[in-house]
Formats: sequence, C-alpha cells, structure tokens
Amino acid sequence: MEKLTSCPLCGEINFIPFLQSNDFFLTQEEYTIVSCSSCGMKFVNPRPEPGEIGKYYESPEYVSHDTGKKNSLNFLYKRLRKISIERKYNLVKKHARGKKLLDVGCGTGEFLFFCEKKGFKVTGIEPGEKPRSFAQLEYKLNVEAEGYLDQMVPQQFDVITMWHVLEHIHPLHERIDIILDIMKHDGTLIIAVPNCDSWDARYYGKFWAAYDLPRHLYHFSQETMKTLAQKHKLIIDEIIPMKLDAFYISLLSEKYSRGKQNFFRAFVNGVRSNSFANKSNNNYSSLIYVMKRGKWLQ
Ligand SMILES: [Zn+2]
Repeated sequence: MEKLTSCPLCGEINFIPFLQSNDFFLTQEEYTIVSCSSCGMKFVNPRPEPGEIGKYYESPEYVSHDTGKKNSLNFLYKRLRKISIERKYNLVKKHARGKKLLDVGCGTGEFLFFCEKKGFKVTGIEPGEKPRSFAQLEYKLNVEAEGYLDQMVPQQFDVITMWHVLEHIHPLHERIDIILDIMKHDGTLIIAVPNCDSWDARYYGKFWAAYDLPRHLYHFSQETMKTLAQKHKLIIDEIIPMKLDAFYISLLSEKYSRGKQNFFRAFVNGVRSNSFANKSNNNYSSLIYVMKRGKWLQ
C-alpha cells in the first residue's frame, strides 16, 4: 500500500477523513477516502501501489473490460454503451479541428471503432491485456499498452479522450503532462469522470458505486476539475452531463447497498439524480469536461 503524504491535486499536506467504504465489487477490503483541507480533492488514502492495482481488475465481471459474459446488468450496460458512443462521437466531431483521435483507456475499443468508421484516424491506449487484444483482433484497431504513451510523437493528436479513466491513474499530473505533449496546440482534451457532488453520490453514501474503491483513486467535483485544468493551463470550454450514468450507477449502488439489483428503484433514483442536477449547478452523476489551451478557445 502507498500512503500519500500530500494531496495529489494541490500538494498541500492537510486532509481529513471523508468516508470509509469497501471494495463491494471484488475484495470487500475497506478503504478510506480523505478530503484535502486546501483544495477539497477527495482521494483514497492509503491506496494500492501501481504494481498491485492489477489484481483489483481481475474479476470476469468487471463490465468495462468484459468481452462476453451475459447477464442482465451487462446487457443493460451494453445497450447504454451503444447510445453513449454516439453521443461521445458527436461531441468529438463538434470540437475536433482535425481527424486524429487518441482514446486513453479505450477498453475493448467500441468507441474508437465507431469513430474510425466515421472517418477519424484512431489510436487507443489500454493497460489491460485482455481488452487490448480484443480491440486489436476484433476491430483491427491500433491499440497500444500504457507504456507506449511516453514514446509517441509530440503534438500529433487533434482530440484526446479519457472516458472514465482519469480517476484510475496513479501519476495524475505526470500523465496529463504527457497527454498534453502529444496533443496539438489547438487540440481538445475531453475527460469524463464521476461527480461526487451528484445526488446519487449523496443518496447512496458509502454504497455509491462510482466510488469503486480502490480502483477509483480520485473522486472529482466540478471544483477540483477546475483546479486540475488551471494547473495545466487549460480552459474548460464546456461541461456536459452523462445522464445515463445516473441510472447505471444507481443500479449498481442498489446492488451494493441492498444485496440485489432493483431496476425500478434504480430507475426512480436515476430520474431523481438527473432532475436534481438540472436544478442544482449541473451536478449530474458523471460529467464530461471539454478542455482546450486558452488561446485556442475562440
Ligand atoms: Zn489539495
């Protein structure tokens, strides 16, 4: 285990306990989320070392990496994924000044495959060997392991996307620096992360599925994402809700808190979360941040 002595976002050294919760998905181990007294960043501390985090992804049920298993939750997940892929593509198309796209943490590659069919020149990075091989074999995509990021030609990508990936990355600032090195000066960085200020986060508390401990190392809010953007001299151009996530996260959270899936309750709470967010500062279950370098915003 790695015990952080300073905030991974702002570097200050004072933080207070925020929440204790468990790895409800796999190991049942207990973890503590702390909140930075200076910037408000919430992060798991202590956390597994980079070298030991792999075992926390090893369940065949980890749906974002699952390539075959059939159950109702996985079926629903795949239906929602199909809808969300098109929305993601439309966002990329709206902001891209060119056709070169990198998806970091591309999983099994469905989003990239869709974009490729629409005329983008696509590259993926995926640390998991199983999903990476699937993307290469099934969709014939150019997908590389994580270490390849360091070796890429600088300033080559028009758009770089990270869909629910940033919260998994140990070297937070270092990784964004590398990503900005390979992004063109007028490029766009699109980052989607769960929002710990959402209604579903507050309602489910320690059972909120998007805490996903210890796989999610950070729990971002709009405020901490703004701090992150500022630290990397980026401007947030647009913040867009992922309304379907409220339903999916509520469904998983129902399972964690009550021991079984309850589609009706999950649906009701998904609606409640989205209507709260609509009235309350855009605090949807998950948010997409479209970031650019300041002078290219116009
Ligand atoms: Zn901080």
